[in-house]
Amino acid sequence: MAHLSPLLKQATPVLVDHADGLNVYDEQGRRYLDFTAGVGVTSTGHCHPRVVAAINEQATKLIHGQYLTVMHRPLLTLCERLGNVLPPELQSLFFTNSGSEAMEASLRLVRHATGRPNIITFHGGFHGRTVGAASMTTSSARFRSGYSPLMGGVHIAPFPYAYRYGWDEPTATKFALRELDYLLATATAPQDTAALVLEPMLGEGGFVPANRIFLEGLRERAEQHGMLIVMDEVHTGFGRTGQFWGHDHFGVQPDILVAAKGLTSGFPLSFIAASDEVMGKAWPGSQGGTYGGNAVACAAAVATLDVIKDENLVDNAAVMGRRLIDGARTVARDSGIIGDVRGLGLMIGSEFTDPDGEPDPARAQRAQQEAVERGLLLQICGAWRNVVRMIPALTVDASQIDEALTIWTEAVRSAK
Ligand code: PLP
Repeated sequence: MAHLSPLLKQATPVLVDHADGLNVYDEQGRRYLDFTAGVGVTSTGHCHPRVVAAINEQATKLIHGQYLTVMHRPLLTLCERLGNVLPPELQSLFFTNSGSEAMEASLRLVRHATGRPNIITFHGGFHGRTVGAASMTTSSARFRSGYSPLMGGVHIAPFPYAYRYGWDEPTATKFALRELDYLLATATAPQDTAALVLEPMLGEGGFVPANRIFLEGLRERAEQHGMLIVMDEVHTGFGRTGQFWGHDHFGVQPDILVAAKGLTSGFPLSFIAASDEVMGKAWPGSQGGTYGGNAVACAAAVATLDVIKDENLVDNAAVMGRRLIDGARTVARDSGIIGDVRGLGLMIGSEFTDPDGEPDPARAQRAQQEAVERGLLLQICGAWRNVVRMIPALTVDASQIDEALTIWTEAVRSAK
């Protein structure tokens, strides 16, 4: 009998039957509070009525209007809506199906636009599993191991992950920028370097925000050397961090913005956004694909963007995020097994460490499992898989945050 590959590792044993909002129900009718949101995808919660209505309506009219063959209204409407939330300079869009595919598209674009071969990525970044994206990924060796030779031309600079270095943020930032200069002086000359590629906050790599000084430093060097900045907002986009885009926290704009996850509340759809000037330097015919800009996915995206706006979900993410991080910090203080709690908006990570400050994946995983057994769905991230992440839908309310924190308190206590 055909079955799923044993290589797929599931974070919970839950066999889901149906879901609404932040609630997920298994086949026996047991309710779980979902603080994973399908790895940050179901931004408006599961099956938001307006998103469901838009999907149903579109599915009866047109499911697949292949965008290299014909144009369809949902795609045009989505372009218009995205124009309102994207930086005014980045209004040229190319749609793909997944975060990895969009990252591959950004890679092709920066090489075409600059005529340069090399890329600098930042240590701890996750950009996907396809060869180009995996070559830029350093959040964990398991995404690269046994997959060599990966794509050439990728150089890795430090990310200001202050807690890991055991420094304060200014020291970690100064170090990261100095090492970037050293890399440009020793390994990849500016005239060979097309782009700096980064997440505004490490996701898979352990939920570590960048900071303003760091990003200003990148912008300065990008301007000086004619390099482009590619911001991978696949995880951080659409209000997840309490600002519409993750980079909004730091006041530094990318040249190419890559987005996916929270865009549609669940359908596979991603895109890259750039200026007309940058997009115009790429080679005609170099963008395309069979499924990009699927009509039902576009309808779901338009409805999702409308719900995010009409229900003030970006502000809600900021307010609820503060409640969540404050609560998670209290749990950490009382536990003695969580060394750091950090994040932005509704993207909060608790890093488990032993008394010597070394990563403690066993306790992190025990706490995550204890939470699942008590009805709270959570996931793990970080290089050592010792960071428990909380990423509820942007619709989360105070009572759901408090319910999650009550379960989390008990789960951490049991994991000691
Ligand atoms: N970039 C970031 C920041 C991500 O978080 C992810 C997925 O988690 C990806 C890229 C890859 O996206 P996908 O899994 O849709 O290929």
